[in-house]
Amino acid sequence: MVPTSTVAEYLDAVASFERAAEQLAATNPVMLSGQEVLGCLHRVETAARKIPAAQHWLTEVSIEQGLHNELGYTSTKELLVDQLRLAGGEAADRVRGARNRAPRQERGSAPGPRLPLVAAAQRDGRISERHAIAIDRAVDKCGRKLPAHQLEPLEEMLVIAAESVTPDDIAALGRKAYETIDPDGAEPSAEDIARQRDLHLGKQRDDDLMSTLEGCLAPEARALVDTVMDKLARPGVNNPADADNPVDIDDPDAIANAAKRDKRTAGQRRHDALAAALRAGIASGILGQHRGLPCIPIITLGIDQLESHTGIATTATGGRLPVPDALAMMGGNPKYVLLLDLAARPLFLGREKRLATADQRIALYGSEKGCTAPGCDAPATRCQVHHITEWADGGRTDITTLTLACDKHHGKVVPGKDQIRRGFETVVLPDHNQYPGRTGWRRTADPAGDYRVNHTHHTHELYQQAQEHHRQRHQAYADAWRAEDERALYRDLVGTIHDDIAAILDGPNGPPTLETLLSEHDDDNHWRTEPPWPMDAAGHRDAA
Ligand SMILES: [Zn+2]
Repeated sequence: MVPTSTVAEYLDAVASFERAAEQLAATNPVMLSGQEVLGCLHRVETAARKIPAAQHWLTEVSIEQGLHNELGYTSTKELLVDQLRLAGGEAADRVRGARNRAPRQERGSAPGPRLPLVAAAQRDGRISERHAIAIDRAVDKCGRKLPAHQLEPLEEMLVIAAESVTPDDIAALGRKAYETIDPDGAEPSAEDIARQRDLHLGKQRDDDLMSTLEGCLAPEARALVDTVMDKLARPGVNNPADADNPVDIDDPDAIANAAKRDKRTAGQRRHDALAAALRAGIASGILGQHRGLPCIPIITLGIDQLESHTGIATTATGGRLPVPDALAMMGGNPKYVLLLDLAARPLFLGREKRLATADQRIALYGSEKGCTAPGCDAPATRCQVHHITEWADGGRTDITTLTLACDKHHGKVVPGKDQIRRGFETVVLPDHNQYPGRTGWRRTADPAGDYRVNHTHHTHELYQQAQEHHRQRHQAYADAWRAEDERALYRDLVGTIHDDIAAILDGPNGPPTLETLLSEHDDDNHWRTEPPWPMDAAGHRDAA
């Protein structure tokens, strides 16, 4: 049985943890001997390793309470990302930790954690969260091959190992265990083939716009790829650097001549062959339509980029490509392109067929670039068109307008008046808002909150915000210095530097530079690291 506690007991435990953590973080360990430093590193590590057990338990209780539904989130992972600002992968690991390594209260399931030995080791601080994740994954993988009663010895073996090796070693041990269970990988079963097939397209890198492609082909897919490569990856074929490209792929003489000029590596030829096969597949029209649009790459670029032939164009699938590449892709046929004017309004829409709804959708692809729900990274091609009610001064009108929402968020939109279902309310933001015309989202569980927009597809806004917050913090700090009469007390210490104080406060480095100057002047003064009056986080004098 899992012992229960009262609310007061739990809150008391949280408060004493907060006090202890605060005290420890604020205490300077500089006076410790080397041996004492080492001892304390061990003790703090052990204590810190117990914390994930508490976090998983809390998360598990939130899952059982359905807290994410109550607050209008699509999942517990989304709740953790939004409320705690966790990275997506980290939030997924937390949910996994809650499901597998926390005690359960819900009816119909055993009260103990699914991985009781890992959970106990975490509670005792014997293994880290990374160890636990590695064991969790290894047991999960071997579980596809082993009956349940054989998993516990494996779990026990890995927990004991984790007390003396690193998480990477645990992952290696897990692989070894899997190989031991399934030694004859040479003749895989149909289920093995079906399970292992995998293709992973990595995130487009920021610096050079390249993407990695990794995966594991099943035998049939391998045969198809070989067929395409035999034809399209030969030297001389599909060489983008060749003046005669594309050559007639059924003309042996033309290919032989082009092959002499072909300087590509085999890997580069395979890459170009894959691109050619995809191009041919798309051009054949067999893909039909995707969400009401012909299934072709849709590229958005600005009129200024078209004129200068520089910059980065975007695609409706969330990708980026240099403008010269985009223009080459368009070729003589502009049907792939949405051209924006300087204010990012659609100027020209290349299209195969005139369809009003399709035009609207392409325009949204260009201006919104993806799901408009705050924090969502779903690109435009994974979204549906969502109708929102226009906001007019003094109230809402019946005019509807269109925005993009991914399937998950679209399903979570409920009218603001709805008292029962929890989700999001959406509006077109009014002219006096910082982002007029954009789609604002508000959780109905938080009816007094602000409508928020999604900055994920508009990185420049996040950047501007960060700069603005930095500037405000700086300004508040400078104002606090100016506002204090105590500053007059320091005039004697400052001496001739005093005349420059105003200039320094307005300068690019502001108060920190001033403090450096003052501390050089008098090393013994006690206020050089921070102002002598209590400050809150915004740099205002604390009223208390
Ligand atoms: Zn979304």
